[in-house]
Parts: sequence; structure tokens; C-alpha cells
Amino acid sequence: FKQKTAYEISLGLVGSEMCIRDRGYTMSDILQHTIYMDYAATTPVDPVVLEAMSNFFVADYGNPSSMYSLGQEGRKALDEARERIAKVLNSRTGEIVFTSGGTESDNSALLGSALALREHGQHIITSSVEHHAVLHAASLLEELGFEVTYLPVDNNGFINVNTVAESITNNTTVVSVMLANNEVGTIQPVAEIAEIVKSKAQRIGHPIVMHTDAVQAAGFLDLNVQQLGVDMLSLSAHKFHGPKGVGLLFIKRGTPFRPIHVGGSQERDRRAGTENVAGIVGMSVALELSNIQRNELTSHTLALRNKIITSLFERLDGIKLNGPLDFRLPNNVNVSIEGIEAEPLLLGLDLAGIAASSGSACTAASLEPSHVLLAMGLPESVASSSLRLSLGQENTTEEIDYTVNVIVELVNRLRLINNARKVR
Ligand code: PLP
Repeated sequence: FKQKTAYEISLGLVGSEMCIRDRGYTMSDILQHTIYMDYAATTPVDPVVLEAMSNFFVADYGNPSSMYSLGQEGRKALDEARERIAKVLNSRTGEIVFTSGGTESDNSALLGSALALREHGQHIITSSVEHHAVLHAASLLEELGFEVTYLPVDNNGFINVNTVAESITNNTTVVSVMLANNEVGTIQPVAEIAEIVKSKAQRIGHPIVMHTDAVQAAGFLDLNVQQLGVDMLSLSAHKFHGPKGVGLLFIKRGTPFRPIHVGGSQERDRRAGTENVAGIVGMSVALELSNIQRNELTSHTLALRNKIITSLFERLDGIKLNGPLDFRLPNNVNVSIEGIEAEPLLLGLDLAGIAASSGSACTAASLEPSHVLLAMGLPESVASSSLRLSLGQENTTEEIDYTVNVIVELVNRLRLINNARKVR
């Protein structure tokens, strides 16, 4: 990751006396006791990001809405953060609204646009494989009297763009389709969908807001909002080596939006509440850095991902890759292993020092078959035997070899136990 040092120097973070990295904080140190293969759940904060944030906890702690200089330092930091982010998204600075993370951004996008356009219609469209932050916001709208169409997906998790066109009615006001799926990594044709939505809106004669949840895409895909053609886009900092509890919603100028968080007039009246200055600074640096490293991260994780898939298929029977090979996030592996429940496999991996997941983090806690895999047509038994490995910049070939060995050993052992139980 060569470009990173140049970036650190440009931020003036290298060699400073306070440099956290000089005090021994490196990402490899943090990860040394765990083989971390759950980057889709969260990522460690990059030392460069932590360093950039540190000033705003103690020295420059002023409220950015205060008039005096201490507050104005915070205001300046927010302005600079907005500029960094706008450059990556190819948006205007005024189109970035800071939030508390991906969930809030998704909730606000759906509720805020649906409520703003309610006089034009009460129909919204989303897909059956969205994150619960979108799906539960859609259910809330249903409770409020809206009608929601949940677009089906094919067995690789893709939405058919024609079904989007067919689903739009004169009452449709919002379409929300994720850019990349958190469980199987499927990349949706968002730009194509956005084009259809815009031309339908023109014909119908009222706006239809096009939102995309790009939370999992950051760090891997181009987030240029002009090219994507979207009106709204959600991001969450902790997915790209920024801090947890901070995110953003891009809202294109002129997009109808009724604020969901009300109170003070922060974020130009679109999201009330004192801004998380340190978090926002951290997110902006993390986003800029992840954009610089995007190609390198893609080729690094792609090589490791292909190695895992090939090795598992060579060494195990009854294994199925969930999701496509093309148009898939380069760091995502999701497999179902015949006869193996996710829970004992994940526990075994944990004992061997490997952090992995089955489905999304939330479904992993409740261990219900993933709604994404079910929507892709997998039977419940296959959906419950899924294992997700999501890779990142710190993973190595040695870790992949070790992990594959552990998985193969665990699966063979669990299958023996299952067979012995059947005989008894
Ligand atoms: N959307 C997607 C696709 C996600 O993967 C996640 C988190 O896993 C979220 C939204 C929610 O983000 P946050 O954890 O910042 O609330």
C-alpha cells in the first residue's frame, strides 16, 4: 500500500511527536492475535485516521455551532471533511449530510424522501436483499400506510432491471437499491436502474427519488454519484477503516427531503444534533485514503478470495458458492457446506483464532437463515449452512492457507460426528 505513506505525509501526520503510529499502534499489531476475515462486519480504524481524529477530542473540542474561535476550529474541520468527501463522491459539499452511520442514513433516505413526496404518491420500491436498515424502514412506511414493492432477485442475487421498470406506477416516489450486497457481495446495476427511474419520473411528472445503500461498496467500487445517477447514497465510516457511529447521506441538490432528526439547524436543517467532529474528520480521511488504495485493495483481496474458493472446492465435496463470480465485491466469499450448520463451524473457527461470519452480523447473532440467501432461492437447510469470509488489506496468503486447512479439518470432523449420530 505504497500510496498511503505519501498520503500520510500530505496530511502532515508522519514524524509528528504525537504520532500514534510512532507510539506503536499499527493495524497489524491490533490484528496479530486474530485472523480477521470479517471486514464486511467492521474494520479496524486506520492509524492515519486515528491520528487525524485525535486533536478533536481534547484540544479542538469546541462546538462547531459556537461563534468563538474554539468552535470555529471545529467548523473549519467539518468544512474540510466535507470537501474531502465531496471530491471522492464527485458531489457538491452542500450535498453531504453527516449522520450516525449506515442505519441512520438508510432510515433517513427512505423515510425522509417518502414523507416529503407523500402528496404525489405512497408507493416505494426496494429489493428483497437489502440490509435491514432499509427493509425495516420500508416496513415502518408500510405501517404508516405506504405500499412497498420488494423486488425479487435471481439465484445470484441480481435484480432484473426490467422488473424495476414494470414495478413503477404513478404513485411511486422512492426507489432504493443497494450498490453491493453485504452477505454475498452481488453488485447491482444501480446506474442502469437510476436511468430507468429518471425517465419514468419524467413521464409521470413528479420526482422519484433514487437511493442507493453503498455501505459495503466503499473501498472497492467507484462512488461517483454523477456516474451512478443517484439522488441519495448512504455510507458508514466503520466499513472503510473509519470510526464506528458516523456515516453520511449524500442528498443531491433539489431532492425532496423531510428531515427525520429535528431540533437544531445543523447540517443545513437536514439533520439536527451537534456534529461528531472527530468522527467526521476520521471518516473523511478514511474515505479519501480508501479511494486512493481502491485498486490495490481490489487486486489484493481478489487474489486471496480466488485462492480460498479454488482451495475449498478442490478439497471439499458438497460445497456451493453463494452469489456470482463476476459483479461481486472482490473481498467476499460466501459458501454453503452440505450437512454443516454455521454455528459449530463458526465456533470452531473462533477457537482456531479466525473471525468469520455467517450471513450479516445481525443475522449471525440470531442465527436465522439469511433473508438474502432465502430470496436467492436457497432452501432453508442450505441457507443455514452458509459461511461468509470477507477479506481486507491485512490478510495474507499464509492466513488463507491456514484458514482453508482449519475449515477443511472442521468440516470433515463435523461430518464424521453427524454420520455417527445418524448410525446411532
Ligand atoms: N447497509 C449495509 C449494506 C450494511 O452492510 C450495514 C452494516 O452492516 C448497514 C447498512 C448499517 O450500517 P451501520 O452499521 O453503520 O449502521
